[in-house]
Amino acid sequence: MSSKDVEKFKHTCPACRAEYPCEKLVYQCDCGSKVIVKVNLNDIEVSRKEMLSRREKDLPSIERYFEFLPLLNRKNLVHLGEGNTPLVHAKNLGRRLAMPHLYLKNEINNPTGSFKDRPINVGLNRALEFGAETVASASSGNAANSLAAGSAKANIRCVAFVPADAPRSKIAQLLLYGAEVIPVGRTEGYLGDPTVEMLTKCYQELGFHPIPSFGHLNPYQMEGAKTIGYEIAEDMVPNHMLIPLGGGGLYLGNYNAFSEYKELDIVDELPVMHAVQGAGCAPLVKAFRKNKPIETWEEPRTIAAGLADPFTWDGERVLTALKENGGLAIGVEDGPIVEAQKLLARYEGIFAEPTGSASLAGLFKLVDEGVISKDETVVVEVTGHGFKDLVQVEGLFEMPGPIRPDMKDVRKRLRI
Ligand SMILES: *Cc1c(COP(=O)(O)O)cnc(C)c1O
Repeated sequence: MSSKDVEKFKHTCPACRAEYPCEKLVYQCDCGSKVIVKVNLNDIEVSRKEMLSRREKDLPSIERYFEFLPLLNRKNLVHLGEGNTPLVHAKNLGRRLAMPHLYLKNEINNPTGSFKDRPINVGLNRALEFGAETVASASSGNAANSLAAGSAKANIRCVAFVPADAPRSKIAQLLLYGAEVIPVGRTEGYLGDPTVEMLTKCYQELGFHPIPSFGHLNPYQMEGAKTIGYEIAEDMVPNHMLIPLGGGGLYLGNYNAFSEYKELDIVDELPVMHAVQGAGCAPLVKAFRKNKPIETWEEPRTIAAGLADPFTWDGERVLTALKENGGLAIGVEDGPIVEAQKLLARYEGIFAEPTGSASLAGLFKLVDEGVISKDETVVVEVTGHGFKDLVQVEGLFEMPGPIRPDMKDVRKRLRI
């Protein structure tokens, strides 16, 4: 290992200030707190031009952004083609909303159908650097699916703790990838996230590599969420971005990516980045409004199930980032989320799940409130595929009944 590698990134504990060298695998600080990883930018010498030329080569994210990720071994990287998603100029939807500069970062194009493929791929490769044989996830379904698909490719065991009420299609997807799926129910009066508790115990008692999408038990994969931000920053610096928020990893990925690119002079400024939660599970929004510490949300209830983390694991860092870039934290109701889902499909041909549509519902709200004006440039992150919960979509429509094989019936049906 060269001395450059040793310096590549640092682990630090924000609680006790302990530091660990990068060649060590650190999931948690010895003091029990979470650790934070920071990549050393001093050794990175890339220009915007260089990054764009890598894009031409169509490299997978993990190779394209290798210097920026907490990985040491460029060889034997496992990937399924994560990232490299399109930033779509949403002309039809923009016309409908009278917003000519509306862009959608279409993350449903990722291999398992959600942006979670980006962070989890980094967490998985870090675990593989240390010879992982069993990895485990706690997830409403998407992060677990990212891990299950990657584990299939890496040929290792994957255990997935999911909420007992997770959509059946997400569970089926997991089973198909060969994951061992364990749905966990809530016992009465239980506060918190039972899947995370089981994941923590499996790490402590069984030595499984914990790879959730948040930083509480693993600092590495959150760095993988930065790749979405680098891609957008290489395309443009919009006035506003709308980012759905559950644990906070996606938000921080975007924020840190733009901050790093600014430090490297690849961009001149940061967009204003807004965080969007479901109104029925909005612990971060509550803390943001009241300017108080984040508390556990007691009864999560939102159609955006992928955002229903009762506790915003990385929320404190998000609150700091929001203050720095002037973004707001807002909650959106189920109605506007479904409306956004319908508009994405009807006007742009993008089939997103409610979790992946919440950000657009957030845009409606901020335009209504006059925070965003219609002529500004806006990027909305559409993060998860609609195929992940077909039962939800079926519930939106009355299924059309059959006709006789007769043109009369066709004309009647089409009102021609
Ligand atoms: C997890 C998830 C989010 C939220 O990301 P966090 O990193 O948990 O804040 C948004 N959209 C989809 C589709 C997700 O699966």
